[in-house]
Amino acid sequence: MVKGKHHHEDFIREAIRCSGVSDRLVTRFPPEPNGFLHIGHAKSMCLNFGVAHEFGGRCHMRFDDTNPRNEDKKFINSIQNDVRWLGFKWENYLYFASDHFEQLYEWAEHLILKQKAYVDDLSQEQIRLYRGTLTTPGRPSPFRNRTARENLDLFRRMRKGDFADGSCVLRALIDMSSANVNMRDPVLYRILHVTHPRTGGKWCIYPTYDFAHGQSDAIEGVTHSLCTTEFEDHRPLYNWFIENLPVPCQPKQYEFARLNLSHTVLSKRQLTQLVDEGYVNGWDDPRLPTLAGMRRRGVPPSAIHDFIKLVGIKKSDKLVDLALLEHCIRNALNRVAPRRMVILDPIELVVDNYPQNHSEQFVVLNNPQDPDDGSRNLPFSRRLYIERNDFTESPAPKFYRLSPGQEVRLRNAYLVTCNKVIKDTNGSIVSVHCTYDPHSRGGDSPDGRKVRGTVHWVSAEHSVESEVRLYNPLLISPTPNDNKNLIEEINPRSLEVLRGCKAEILLDREVGHNAVQFERHGYFCHDIDSRVGTPIFNRTVALRDTWSKINKS
Ligand code: ATP
Ligand code: MG
Repeated sequence: MVKGKHHHEDFIREAIRCSGVSDRLVTRFPPEPNGFLHIGHAKSMCLNFGVAHEFGGRCHMRFDDTNPRNEDKKFINSIQNDVRWLGFKWENYLYFASDHFEQLYEWAEHLILKQKAYVDDLSQEQIRLYRGTLTTPGRPSPFRNRTARENLDLFRRMRKGDFADGSCVLRALIDMSSANVNMRDPVLYRILHVTHPRTGGKWCIYPTYDFAHGQSDAIEGVTHSLCTTEFEDHRPLYNWFIENLPVPCQPKQYEFARLNLSHTVLSKRQLTQLVDEGYVNGWDDPRLPTLAGMRRRGVPPSAIHDFIKLVGIKKSDKLVDLALLEHCIRNALNRVAPRRMVILDPIELVVDNYPQNHSEQFVVLNNPQDPDDGSRNLPFSRRLYIERNDFTESPAPKFYRLSPGQEVRLRNAYLVTCNKVIKDTNGSIVSVHCTYDPHSRGGDSPDGRKVRGTVHWVSAEHSVESEVRLYNPLLISPTPNDNKNLIEEINPRSLEVLRGCKAEILLDREVGHNAVQFERHGYFCHDIDSRVGTPIFNRTVALRDTWSKINKS
């Protein structure tokens, strides 16, 4: 085994390499099935599945299903879906903490018999008061001196269902004056007369996360238990369990910093609130940082992998700018997304000297960055649509797009010169008229005259009317958790729905999940609700980072 610092290696990979277990490395990804996975979980997955792959070990998929009140089969399914979507495989190593309930129960009795656990009748509130604070020691519960025999009897009756929810708990007997609050007789089991998504009505007592988590690792033979830094203070407790129980293996815990991303939240409690209270449209709302939301929005898994690699594995928390994620998405899509033309805010452009009832096709590359991506036929006719803001009657000095008397290039088609504007009685523009130069086919200047502006367009009779959904950051503040009210931070412009957009007809038939670039607008994909004839598009990401500029001004 080579020791010492390897270049570009994070502290966890270094620890694994130096630990000498690397050839039989076992890690695990342990979500609780009480919500959908988000981009923070992707960091944990990239690390756990990533190191297992790199070192030739394996990574277990484990559901930490110890709290049946908030857990649901739909979350178990969505989580498996999302892990697969990122390309990670657990092969036969699918586990549930609930698989280990019988063993965990046995170990609880083991602690009771060793006088290292007791049944406590104090209420939850009293337990909290007795626990003390960071600066004051805790006080022992009056039930702390029960005999092993009495505790065993009470614990068995807890299991049998003799007691109501909350009437007693099983606690470890450790040290009420420990400087570490986690060591002050933590709760191991509580009574919950609740049906469990997997064990049904079999149990009415459930182990706490703290009691189940480390022991589940030990049962499964996990060698490296990688978790986020908020569990650093729990490590002495996990070690205490390992030392006091006849476990078959002694996992070692390493903590790394959680991912924090600007303008969003990565806490399941807050995400659940946004979903349950209807501030977003479900867990796969494209504005959410959930993997399901990002998938629906059109983010490719490779962009998430690139992003997590750039963020790296560190010990201390920092806030990662959403712009970095968007940069990775643009990079990934730029390579693969064919270019299409879509008019988001159309006005009619009539080419007066183009024959009536005539059309022609231009053969245009799908992706100028990738000539192997082939080409498409782009229909042109007399009546077109252009963007409303590509025309003005009173151009500012450097406005090179369409205005009366000005010549511009219709991208891939012809040079046209504007000659007339038609308005309604209110003075708003109904259509713009122009003439084209028949010798400029393909958009090339026939005699070397300079045409600076280029605008995109679609042929009216070859377009499909579509809905386009633009997404902006969900939360206004870059740091919505710093003493702010989450709901008040919701960006009223997080979703902008545009109707009556005009898309190249080809886009109507390309339904699927493939990314396209709408020229000059950004990367888009068909929403899952999209139908032939009534396409709906999601903007995955704009072409440039407009948000940080808008936000500053
Ligand atoms: P919350 O605290 O919001 O309920 P959680 O961390 O409890 O989320 P779990 O389902 O328990 O959610 O997480 C599964 C794994 O993913 C854990 O190992 C956890 O440390 C990791 N994880 C969760 N959120 C992040 C994050 N933001 N960055 C990195 N890892 C994370
Ligand atoms: Mg958790």
